[in-house]
Amino acid sequence: AFKAIMVSRDDNKVQSVDVAELTVDDLMEGDVVVAVEATTINYKDGLAITGKSPVVRRWPMIPGIDFAGTVVASDHADWKAGDKVILNGWGVGEVHYGAYAGRARVNGDWLIALPDALTPHQAMAIGTAGYTAMLSVLALEGAGITPDRGPVVVTGANGGVGTVAISVLSKLGYQVIASTGRTSESAFLESLGAAEIIDRAELSEPGRPLGKERWAAGIDSVGSVTLANVLAQTQYGGAVAACGLAQGMDLPASVAPFILRGVSLLGIDSVMAPRALREKAWSRLVGDLDTAKLESLSTTIGFDAIVETATALLEGKVRGRVVIDMAG
Ligand code: NAP
Repeated sequence: AFKAIMVSRDDNKVQSVDVAELTVDDLMEGDVVVAVEATTINYKDGLAITGKSPVVRRWPMIPGIDFAGTVVASDHADWKAGDKVILNGWGVGEVHYGAYAGRARVNGDWLIALPDALTPHQAMAIGTAGYTAMLSVLALEGAGITPDRGPVVVTGANGGVGTVAISVLSKLGYQVIASTGRTSESAFLESLGAAEIIDRAELSEPGRPLGKERWAAGIDSVGSVTLANVLAQTQYGGAVAACGLAQGMDLPASVAPFILRGVSLLGIDSVMAPRALREKAWSRLVGDLDTAKLESLSTTIGFDAIVETATALLEGKVRGRVVIDMAG
């Protein structure tokens, strides 16, 4: 038996969170069983646990959209007992029982091999947030953004996506402008490689359709008015990777940056991304993210602290990434 966090709804759609004792037979269908060694709390996990947004679409649900661990049983041709694996997305923790349990039973097609250079703990210090940051960097590279083009703005700088994006971009030689609501964390953001810190209030109020050209590119995990302002202040021929909605799902923007400055808006999705792209992102993370920085941007908690930490994350009180050591 193992422990699992289970979210349920009553007849009035009031959500509750409990810890259940389960066995593998209680899990949903899948051809690979994994012993979960490490998991994490992403923004989406915060939404699932608090019920603030309809992330969970099957009840009851074990939340947790990503994990790293060891295969304990497999009927899938690619995996055998003992293999170290990572899972990100594919509806796990939303429609399929997720990571906040001692065991996960999943479709083997959803797994990728844990890179040799990473421990399960390090992989989850990166997590879906960090893998999404790398998908965003790959998208900017694909749009021809090189360090000599000019600075790159990163919004939601103290969050999971933001801290990894800053670390990777700075290692690759980009000059990073970090936008944050927590300027008290400036020294931390500079230690990750930010060259300049701006207050997110500069971007969170409605602005002009075209502003001063301040950056060559952006990685935005905030959406809404912030993304509109990031686009309006992007240099001619620049590109912005949009991967999040921490401010909101809306996009009150104009087409001016697109049709007058040739700016591109690049959409980033980590959940259904094809396997080859996932493998590319994870192998780039091995090379382009300093382990010392990864250590400094992540904190470790035990299983019992998941619920309170998920709530704190949605309140914007968590800095960087959180790792859950399942053995602990
Ligand atoms: P996180 O750790 O909670 O980071 C979000 C950060 O956004 C916060 O730390 C805060 O940074 C900033 N923020 C919060 N509320 C804000 C507001 N009202 N206005 C402006 N900024 C605000 O979350 P995460 O795990 O990094 O995820 C970030 C976003 O990316 C989420 O929306 C998530 O759903 C999305 N995401 C998308 C994908 C995908 O596949 N596209 C994958 C992963 C994550 P400061 O305190 O520095 O301002």
